[in-house]
Amino acid sequence: MSIEVRDVSYVYEEGSPHSKAALDHVSLTIEKGEFIGIIGHTGSGKSTLIQHLNGLLKPSHGEILYDDVNILEHKENLRQLRQKVGLVFQYPEHQLFEMTIWKDVAFGPTNMRLPQDEINRRVENALSMVGISSDFYQKSPFELSGGQKRRVAIAGVLAMEPDYLILDEPTAGLDPMGRDAILGKVMELHRELGMTVVLVSHSMEDVARYVNRIIVMDEGTVKFDGEPRAVFSHRDELEAMGLGVPQVTKLGSLLQNRGFRMEDTVLTVDQM
Ligand code: ADP
Repeated sequence: MSIEVRDVSYVYEEGSPHSKAALDHVSLTIEKGEFIGIIGHTGSGKSTLIQHLNGLLKPSHGEILYDDVNILEHKENLRQLRQKVGLVFQYPEHQLFEMTIWKDVAFGPTNMRLPQDEINRRVENALSMVGISSDFYQKSPFELSGGQKRRVAIAGVLAMEPDYLILDEPTAGLDPMGRDAILGKVMELHRELGMTVVLVSHSMEDVARYVNRIIVMDEGTVKFDGEPRAVFSHRDELEAMGLGVPQVTKLGSLLQNRGFRMEDTVLTVDQM
């Protein structure tokens, strides 16, 4: 299973005096089971790219293939495909609106007209995946802290049981504890359930700590795409793009957290 972005360009307001090229001939493939970080400074095209992955935006040029089939011609319609490619927008908690946490998470599965016991199973499962216990089910989402609200919003997407989970800046605006809690949960979804995750971030440190592959966006193009240590070896170029590479001292422990051996770590530091 895969999503392939093939030679995709995208222009906002094409043909108008305000037209803006946001993606410029981007090609990449996301295989099932990967944990990918997409990084780049503001305006580099990250959000535009991920909105193509589930058909929310249609390429001005090129195509998006889901399991080798152009998503615009996929046998399942775009609505069904959007359930398989779950997109968590920035500040997703702004979209919470139901009276209770349970109802909010049930919103998507209810719209899918699933049987009630399947809805219940999905809601409970999704909330447990993000670490929200049953004591909270009947509470208002507005009683929660910022980090907890965000976890409920993420559960709303997980309840659709997507094959791919794409998160746009999931830690934006959270304090360090909230940030670690969210990233830790996302890591668990990947490690323990094998979920394919695409994490958009402007923090190289967050990305370095968790992902297996980093895609660096710059001015609508893919500048680098590879394993973290291969990407970090381009330190000067990354710094010129305004992307801080984790400090050498921290990098060793970050890589070790992710299962690298000390020899690999030393090698990486030497390469930098
Ligand atoms: P990022 O997510 O990396 O911050 P975006 O994909 O949001 O980047 O933006 C890429 C470029 O497209 C930027 O120059 C941005 O100003 C422009 N852009 C984004 N959204 C719109 C929009 N709705 N209308 C016009 N231009 C847009």
